[in-house]
Amino acid sequence: MTNEELISMAKKAMENSYSPYSEFRVGAAALGKSGTVYTGVNIENASYGATVCAERCAMFKGISEGERSFSRIAVVCGANRPAPPCGMCLQVMTEFMEPETGEILLEENGGIKVYKLKELIPLAFKL
Ligand SMILES: [Zn+2]
Repeated sequence: MTNEELISMAKKAMENSYSPYSEFRVGAAALGKSGTVYTGVNIENASYGATVCAERCAMFKGISEGERSFSRIAVVCGANRPAPPCGMCLQVMTEFMEPETGEILLEENGGIKVYKLKELIPLAFKL
């Protein structure tokens, strides 16, 4: 699974984004250690707090199917700019991705920028 393929899967998933309030469409594709890719979209709600981000949607799909570790996640949005994960999604990622090796793929300047999870959330909450 190349980074380009994972980004492409995130873009395909984004077509199913449910974002009537913000009209900010997001898609994600998370590569599980099993080799399976789980896609997700942002799903908004009239009660805004009930909204779920694409990254958590993708990871929760995998976790609900028994996946416990992800190596990479691609995140794309409908706007012409990178779509870095929010703090809540980064915190969830720290539970299921290795901070040193887990990768977050974003589209930047016409290419794919790869961030290590630890770069985006250096001081994650841990018990
Ligand atoms: Zn988020």
